[in-house]
Amino acid sequence: MSYELYENFGISKKVVDLSEEIIVSLKDRFSDIDKVAELNQMKVLGAMQKNRVSAACFAGTTGYGHDDLGRDTLEKVYADVFHTDAALVRGQITCGTHALAVALMANLLPGDEMLCPAGKPYDTLEEVIGIRDCPGSLKEYGVTYSQVDLLPDNSFDFDGISAAINDKTKLVEIQRSKGYEMRPTFSVAQICELIKFIKGIKPDVIVMVDNCYGEFVETLEPSDVGADLTVGSLIKNPGGGLAPIGGYICGKKELIERCAYRLTAPGIGSDVGASLMLNTQLYQGLFLAPTVVAAAVKGAVFAAALYERLGFNVIPKSDEPRYDIIQSVELGTKEKLIAFCRGIQSSAPVDSFATPVPAPLPGYGDDVIMAAGAFVQGSSIELSADGPMRPPYAVYFQGGLTFPHIKLGIMKSLQELLNDNLTEI
Ligand SMILES: *Cc1c(COP(=O)(O)O)cnc(C)c1O
Repeated sequence: MSYELYENFGISKKVVDLSEEIIVSLKDRFSDIDKVAELNQMKVLGAMQKNRVSAACFAGTTGYGHDDLGRDTLEKVYADVFHTDAALVRGQITCGTHALAVALMANLLPGDEMLCPAGKPYDTLEEVIGIRDCPGSLKEYGVTYSQVDLLPDNSFDFDGISAAINDKTKLVEIQRSKGYEMRPTFSVAQICELIKFIKGIKPDVIVMVDNCYGEFVETLEPSDVGADLTVGSLIKNPGGGLAPIGGYICGKKELIERCAYRLTAPGIGSDVGASLMLNTQLYQGLFLAPTVVAAAVKGAVFAAALYERLGFNVIPKSDEPRYDIIQSVELGTKEKLIAFCRGIQSSAPVDSFATPVPAPLPGYGDDVIMAAGAFVQGSSIELSADGPMRPPYAVYFQGGLTFPHIKLGIMKSLQELLNDNLTEI
């Protein structure tokens, strides 16, 4: 063991030894994750080959962007990866929330109702829907909203959902990852069960899945089990860390067409939208995404196992199945949360010299601490951690482009706790 190299990087022998012991115990788990990566790699590769991706696809267009071969081919590749008729994959989609908003606003008309059958949607959708009033919300346009919460044991409230579906119910939105909620992330199998139940009651309802943080964690996607629209961000999983901006919407042709009309203008749709110089990064990022996601999942499992060993409550547990790339560790005190984030920040490739401190954040009741040193600003497929300054002082962390980097980041987080005498090995 090259203890000296670790020592120079600020990691002690104790932390190295414990980490190595943990890694050995995770061998089988890691090989299962590698298998998922291989199957997803095959899926992405097959889609690129089938659609004859060539050097010509990497040339960018400007202006209107008519006949942008790279953009149009990339959308066919995404459609094949997600097994859908069509896809809209654009740098003009500015973030995940924007992609979700486009899909909702394109497919809900005045008088329609949107239903969330599995609890509250992602925080940023509250303004889009009008749960919190905002100019331009769906509510302003006369779209109503209804929500059925999960039962106390986090299972679906099938009776409640059945009662909530009515003549006006046009679109159902399901969020795969837990986001900032306390519930577990849904597996694709659970989403399948929910979609089947809903379509059994109302076959023509549009089911849309917020797929953020879930892509390539399993070998099936929501679009494989009946979702009509599957939506996500390119600065998370499917961008593979290389996409500098963008979002995607995959689904049924007529629904995607409406999304394109909403994104640009009715009549113009997906025919315009120059790809500028983005194409290479979007293709190469998608190509890397299965292994980047696998690294992130391994990193999450490693952190869970390490902190579990030291007696912390972790969600999910190290031996539980994974359906997204998020790991949380309940650190228990303010000091530990700050030290953890300091360790993550100090091991970043960018802004490693910065010290994260808790600060107020619009929309949050408590101060929040955030650690990120990313090549793409705000990218959370890169190693990042954050947590609200309130009990149980849980840190949520995700991402990391390579497993060695995530491992070093987690080791450093533990080292910071040890240096401040906040825990013991
Ligand atoms: C990240 C995320 C979004 C969208 O967030 P943006 O910051 O706008 O990209 C939506 N839903 C979930 C579950 C997410 O994790």
